[in-house]
Amino acid sequence: MFEKSQKAYSEAKDVIPGGVDSPVRAFTSVGGTPPFIQKGQGAYIYDIDGNKYLDFVQSWGPLIFGHCNKEIEDAVIETVKKGLSFGAPTELETQLAHEIVDMHDNIDKVRFVSSGTEAVMSAIRLARGVTKRDDILKFEGCYHGHSDSLLVQAGSGLATFGTPSSPGVPADLTKHTLLCEYNNVENLKQCFKDSKDIACIIIEPIAGNMGLVPASAEFLKACRDLCDEHGALLIFDEVMSGFRASLTGAHGIVETSADIVTFGKVIGAGMPVGAFASSSKIMDHLSPDGAVYQAGTLSGNPVAMAAGLVSLKKLKANPEIYDDLSAKAIKLTQGLKKVAQDNNIPMVVDTRGSMFGFFFNENQPMNIKEVATSDFERFSTFHSEMLKRGFYFACSQYETGFISTVMTDDDIDNCIKAAHEVMEIL
Ligand SMILES: *Cc1c(COP(=O)(O)O)cnc(C)c1O
Repeated sequence: MFEKSQKAYSEAKDVIPGGVDSPVRAFTSVGGTPPFIQKGQGAYIYDIDGNKYLDFVQSWGPLIFGHCNKEIEDAVIETVKKGLSFGAPTELETQLAHEIVDMHDNIDKVRFVSSGTEAVMSAIRLARGVTKRDDILKFEGCYHGHSDSLLVQAGSGLATFGTPSSPGVPADLTKHTLLCEYNNVENLKQCFKDSKDIACIIIEPIAGNMGLVPASAEFLKACRDLCDEHGALLIFDEVMSGFRASLTGAHGIVETSADIVTFGKVIGAGMPVGAFASSSKIMDHLSPDGAVYQAGTLSGNPVAMAAGLVSLKKLKANPEIYDDLSAKAIKLTQGLKKVAQDNNIPMVVDTRGSMFGFFFNENQPMNIKEVATSDFERFSTFHSEMLKRGFYFACSQYETGFISTVMTDDDIDNCIKAAHEVMEIL
């Protein structure tokens, strides 16, 4: 049932490293062949072998309205006909910036880029430029894109400073990155004792890249307080959670407010868009107003802006969408948990708006070490058995699932029914 995909995969491997343009797509952690996708429609995707799947991945987050939303599609087509890119300002950029600014009290200005990686990289440069400090603090298990100084892992012993997690990243480029345990206030305080040169904390306030592991309200408040006390800036990386967890992302759920926020995924509705945003006071440090350099040939691309604009306008005009998404995420996860329990399989679940996570674990993980105690083998079997039954879950326990507005209660019921069959053989 995957013959054509198998062939396509092998052909891709001849000319593309690992056959994919982003490693997670290769299904390495669950095994098997990644289905090659032919098309999407609504809540479903179709592979080249003719299999149909309910899509919980949604291009890893952007497609909150599912595939081929008519309004987004129309806006894109209309814009394409006027030219693909100008490298000159267009009004669409201002309009999309307004959608973001108007919704966030802590944001006056936005700069658009073309990916989440670029957004975070630029936000960090800005924080360093503003504070005139070099060190940055990140948390284990949080992903902020693939730029050099963020590809770090815990060093040996008690070292607070990270070591490169990928060949090709010089240790000199990670020596300013402090690494701390997520949801661990004591560890965080220690970092601020170890360095007096911290420019910023960067955090996924709702971590979605170690599975779904939200930061506690207490932990985020500690981040805020320590930044204030030490003159550092707090960056919320909301590339995934922005317009996903709520209309204002994590900001709509927790009290703590960040100095700089990064966006991506949903704000481009499937087109390559990222953004970073802050108060005028901070953003005015950016070139051409200020001295912190940042640029991009295709930044603010009109086609991408048009897609994002329709998407954010729709969300803003229909905030009840989030109640519906959230109800469906809860229905799905509670349903999965129940069928797991019925089969004596330990499972914990959590949701934030349209984001959902589940671990084959006795306890709710609070950090990456606890995530690693989950039963990955069981996940792998669950994943491939669900795939066979037409349910496309993220191919790693370290990812988050997403509900789209076009998913119906029937879709979710069918998924739980299939999960029931699968749990019996896990
Ligand atoms: C996806 C993601 C990124 C990276 O975005 P890309 O568009 O893949 O470069 C950064 N931060 C978070 C929290 C993400 O989920």
